Amino acid sequence: MSNVSETSSRPDVENPAPPSLAGISAFPQDVPRWTPGATAEAGKKILLAAPRGYCAGVDRAVDAVERALELYGAPIYVRKEIVHNKFVVETLTERGVIFVEETDEVPEGARVVFSAHGVSPAVHAEAAARNLDTIDATCPLVTKVHKEAVRFASEDYDILLIGHDGHEEVEGTQGEAPDHIQVVNSPDEVDKVVVRDPDHVIWLSQTTLSVDETMETVRRLRERFPNLQDPPSDDICYATQNRQVAIKELAPRSDVVIIVGSANSSNSVRLVEVALDAGAKTAYRVDKADEMDVSWFDGATTVGLSSGASVPEILVRDVITRLGELGFGEVEEVRTATENVLFSLPKNLRGDLKEAGLLKEQPKRGKRRALPVQTV
Ligand code: SF4
Repeated sequence: MSNVSETSSRPDVENPAPPSLAGISAFPQDVPRWTPGATAEAGKKILLAAPRGYCAGVDRAVDAVERALELYGAPIYVRKEIVHNKFVVETLTERGVIFVEETDEVPEGARVVFSAHGVSPAVHAEAAARNLDTIDATCPLVTKVHKEAVRFASEDYDILLIGHDGHEEVEGTQGEAPDHIQVVNSPDEVDKVVVRDPDHVIWLSQTTLSVDETMETVRRLRERFPNLQDPPSDDICYATQNRQVAIKELAPRSDVVIIVGSANSSNSVRLVEVALDAGAKTAYRVDKADEMDVSWFDGATTVGLSSGASVPEILVRDVITRLGELGFGEVEEVRTATENVLFSLPKNLRGDLKEAGLLKEQPKRGKRRALPVQTV
């Protein structure tokens, strides 16, 4: 495969530039037009959740890597998976991205992108010590939680970070104030929490959790610490909340719910749990259409469908096509919110693109600014 810088500087029909993975504009979420074929069976339908798929933070991170490839050429190093989606990571790898676990795997002086999940100050320091050129694709809504952690640590609070130990986002946030933050994984861990002053405690959270489970953890924490302080604003982000609301709406009407997303995608896994809690008879997570087992749909007439915030819409289209082959010939959109959140590219990348005259697509993406976060 030709590398990206070559194809983008020499666009022609034989070597077309690869399609962008940046999803919000590339794959608008209109309701797919499915023309019932010979296999469509009366009464069998798909309930398609909206919103679903790419969030603003994922779109920005993927776009940042694609733009970096276009501007600087391959290889571009990325610390950890840029977003938790197998298809995105595999596609970017084919285009010249080298994914590494830690910055010490990046050659001295090379360019590295930090993923949407964020990194701790220690990682920034390691990168600086190795003279790495960094592009920080941390989602602004994760950065917001980092800032809260720094602020409340400076006020000497005990910070209870509700989230999953070992998740990159949690590691990054905890790294902002390791002496003040302890992670609470679930409601069952509340009894183990030890704080210095029960009247000087605040909770924060990972951005991609189940809203209901988090509220249960907070309820139990407050039983123990009645003066527990809430975060200044929701830490569970608008995209996570919106996708959970949509799946709750369609799950009770579904015999089977399919969530497209990778196993390490926190918000995708949460969607399966939320669907089951909301009344879906069964729910499965798949990376792609060919992972679906035909037997899952025995006797089913209605399939609910959604995707995690790191999933390109093209993978959902493939699932719809496969379900169509199995007789689910009608698609009904179940929309519970409309999203209009877009984030600007990282500042240093934007500057370099501008200098190189490569911000020409900006009018199309001209709305790339942080709009007020939409919650439901
Ligand atoms: Fe940002 Fe939310 Fe998307 Fe995570 S899921 S990248 S916090 S918008």
